[in-house]
Amino acid sequence: MGAHAGRKGRTWRRVRERVLTDHGGICWICGHPGAGSVDHVIPRVHLLATGRDPEDPSNLRPAHGALSRCETCGQACNEVKGAREHVPRAQGSRAW
Ligand SMILES: [Zn+2]
Ligand SMILES: [Zn+2]
Repeated sequence: MGAHAGRKGRTWRRVRERVLTDHGGICWICGHPGAGSVDHVIPRVHLLATGRDPEDPSNLRPAHGALSRCETCGQACNEVKGAREHVPRAQGSRAW
């Protein structure tokens, strides 16, 4: 495998814009339009842990974030969801 680095930054930005466009900016969490962030349907850490591509567009959906709160329900869905799922502890916990 020739995994080239440099997939971040510019590419991610394009992927994000693509996802927002494809889904019409509809937040997958609350179902309202106006989402400006992109959220991972399956948590990123989980994908990385299983060796899958965390930037796979099929795993990305628009969501409201701290900078683009929903005008309808007023929440930053991205963060609400994150707080609710509250990952217990990263695997391979180290003694700090
Ligand atoms: Zn939302
Ligand atoms: Zn909403």
